[in-house]
Amino acid sequence: MSVESVFARLEPLLPSVQKPIQYVGGELNSTVKDWDSAEVRWALMYPDAYEVGLPNQGVQILYEVLNEREGVLAERTYSVWPDLEAIMREHKIPQFTVDGHRPVGAFDILGVSFSTELGYTNLLTALDLAGMPLHAVDRREEDPIVLAGGHAAFNPEPIADFVDAAVLGDGEEISLKITEVIREWKREGRPDGRDGLLHRLAVSGGVYVPKFYDVTYLPDGRIQRVAPNRPGVPWQIVKHTVMDLDAWPYPKKPLVPLAETVHERFSVEIFRGCTRGCRFCQAGMITRPVRERSITTIGDMVQQGLNASGFNEVGLLSLSSADHSEIGEVAKGLADRYEGSQTSLSLPSTRVDAFNITLANEFSRNGRRSGLTFAPEGGSERMRKVINKMVSEDDLIRTVTTAYENGWRQVKLYFMCGLPTEEDEDVMAIADMARRVIQAGRDATGSRDIRCTVSIGGFVPKPHTPFQWASQADHETVDRRLRALRDELRQDKRYGRAIGMRYHDGKPSIVEGLLSRGDRRVGAVIRAVWEDGGRFDGWSEHFSYDRWISKAEEIFEDGPVDLDWYTTRERDEVEVLPWDHLDAGLDREWLWQDWRDAVEDGAEVEDCRWTPCYDCGVCPSMGTEIQIGPTGRKLLPLSVVNS
Ligand code: SF4
Repeated sequence: MSVESVFARLEPLLPSVQKPIQYVGGELNSTVKDWDSAEVRWALMYPDAYEVGLPNQGVQILYEVLNEREGVLAERTYSVWPDLEAIMREHKIPQFTVDGHRPVGAFDILGVSFSTELGYTNLLTALDLAGMPLHAVDRREEDPIVLAGGHAAFNPEPIADFVDAAVLGDGEEISLKITEVIREWKREGRPDGRDGLLHRLAVSGGVYVPKFYDVTYLPDGRIQRVAPNRPGVPWQIVKHTVMDLDAWPYPKKPLVPLAETVHERFSVEIFRGCTRGCRFCQAGMITRPVRERSITTIGDMVQQGLNASGFNEVGLLSLSSADHSEIGEVAKGLADRYEGSQTSLSLPSTRVDAFNITLANEFSRNGRRSGLTFAPEGGSERMRKVINKMVSEDDLIRTVTTAYENGWRQVKLYFMCGLPTEEDEDVMAIADMARRVIQAGRDATGSRDIRCTVSIGGFVPKPHTPFQWASQADHETVDRRLRALRDELRQDKRYGRAIGMRYHDGKPSIVEGLLSRGDRRVGAVIRAVWEDGGRFDGWSEHFSYDRWISKAEEIFEDGPVDLDWYTTRERDEVEVLPWDHLDAGLDREWLWQDWRDAVEDGAEVEDCRWTPCYDCGVCPSMGTEIQIGPTGRKLLPLSVVNS
């Protein structure tokens, strides 16, 4: 049955909202396929505003992978701002896709990519605007299957009431497998309806369907057991890992936004995974093992992506890009290829110990010499040992000295506050480090025109990391330490003016902590916050801590759990964690030992790319292995595409 576009009704209303262009679609490389000839129809959602959602690599990759397939259609939808939400409610316009402006409720499946838990209330807005019941159990046969993915889906329990299913890990292959399951089920005449489809997905082993699992609790509030309640449904759901990134060179045709977005460049993911072992880093832990893209595939993707998009900046993405085994060759090859053109290169994430000036010079050959960013994360040597970020202050000073000598004037340093075992002096050590950085710059250049910006985020313990058992610091402690650091820097007559400090208060981290390590009981809080007007929690101008606190107090009033129980409480080894049945491949005993090493003696874990395997469990349990070069190949010079 054909589905009508809502655009004719939407268009006349757009002049009264902010940035209407974000809702019109039609970007270069976007696709609108024929509705009637598609057998399986995906709506892909990034639950934030267009300007954040459009550049998201995960959504762009799946959009292309799915649309390339015969009989499969994929369109995108983003969160609408509250001004348009009000108008849509008034005029009864449903949540729509920006491609065909089709109602989201008409699709077979709504895939939502959660990079952060702060998008949960936006999911509820989209479901409600789509005319779909918020709770999965209330959905009708014709409603789309709501499927969560992305990093936050590694613990989807807080949104278990609202999603029909979740997938863990890389999306390329599993999205196609899900498509085939839906196609078969539809061809067979939809046996056993919606429930039948969900059961097929659940028994396939790669899709988590929360309603097929019962959670029981102990009187003190801890989880007693999570057990499947249907035959054939596995006890553990495993993550998906794409082993050959060269076989999936997406995006090939990147979307070029019409409205301003947070990144306007073509990004190529040069490897996936990270085995550095930073204990706070969920992304590093859940994306293991490291799988590199080959230098030749990177070169081809850059050329093809620039040709298809007209972008003049290329970002080489990964969790720590300078760690690619052939990064020097990649940088030189690309810098040679695009020398004299308008095309510039950027390396968004660099480690102090992987940085070298030759590399930085290659990256700035065709572009501006913008600031350099490093992330020591912990202010003191002791703190960095606890988090396994083994960068010494002397290494950092050596690196920034070289950078200043080579013409850089700005250095940005990222830290976290509220880390396990942290004391006031660990945070105050950030000031000492920043002073040494400025002094090193002044000594190296003989100039006083040197800047250092210190950016500090609140630490949130995340599932599937060694810190998953940790007590989260309360926001009063975090705020007190950050204020003391700010005062110390402000009062410093010699260096203070050269040092900028950026930080947020600790309150959003507490809410993120509740949502990150929460269980199914947290869903009621999310719903209550949303009903009270909660939207766009990742945006400080929309986020309301008081609303979250008062709703958590209301929901948890009769105990036995409360906000502190979920956030500042340390867990012990035997406690069943809400995500224990979701398998990221990491051996639980290894994680526990790493946690004890962190707090007891700060024992260091090396990177298994260059040292022997230390048995974190991922490779044997997932049937994967580390894949790194060098391949010894070189990038060939090609004609310049953007001059
Ligand atoms: S199993 Fe061994 S080689 Fe594989 S990621 Fe873990 S430590 Fe590294």
